[in-house]
Amino acid sequence: METARSSVIVAIDGPSGTGKSSTSKAVAAKLGLSYLDTGAQYRAITWWMLTNGVDVGNPEEIATAAAKPVIVSGTDPAAPTITVDGEDASGPIRTQEVTSKVSAVSAVPEVRTLITALQRSIAAAATGGIVVEGRDIGTTVLPDADLKIFLTASPEARAARRSGEVKGSDLSATREALIKRDAADSGRKTSPLAKADDAVEVDTTELTLQQVIECVVTLVEGKRVAA
Ligand code: C5P
Repeated sequence: METARSSVIVAIDGPSGTGKSSTSKAVAAKLGLSYLDTGAQYRAITWWMLTNGVDVGNPEEIATAAAKPVIVSGTDPAAPTITVDGEDASGPIRTQEVTSKVSAVSAVPEVRTLITALQRSIAAAATGGIVVEGRDIGTTVLPDADLKIFLTASPEARAARRSGEVKGSDLSATREALIKRDAADSGRKTSPLAKADDAVEVDTTELTLQQVIECVVTLVEGKRVAA
């Protein structure tokens, strides 16, 4: 029986290409929860830096500019949105240029402090519950989340999924870029990509997206019943 806590908070972390976004969106839609893509927020601030002449190789310049852009995330899982200073950023944040620079920007502590505060305020406002996906949600942003999931998959499976998403991309180049980004995200000092001690690890290598969604939905429902 499902009831009690409709305001469940679910943290879904893991490296790129593990199916975090597809899974998180589908789980939120299925359970009537809000959805927040925190990677999109780091991409949005990176895009703003690139289009406003900030040298993203210079952490001090990034830190000084970090509070300037106004980033707004729409949390409907059926149509998530992201704007920067009122402008739709959903297309530009997915370019190769942003993808290759986002880890350098997201590693700057001032950026993380601001974006983390924004994420916490969005989660607090989602009174009906929310699924938040990222790298440090279970460890840092929402350490009291009701359920923490850490998705993994082999580098080969992750690269194959990412190349399937990006038209005309080369598999081995995608694999190298993905490994490099994960190493940067895992190795940074401030809130690196990491599995929380109390997270449930789900290896998605051999699973279909549908199976991963079902697995997470079952875990959320189990939490709701136990609450
Ligand atoms: O999930 P996505 O690939 O869009 O994330 C883009 C980047 O944003 C990551 O490579 C990482 O540098 C950063 N990120 C982060 N913390 C999060 C989510 C994303 O540092 N919670």
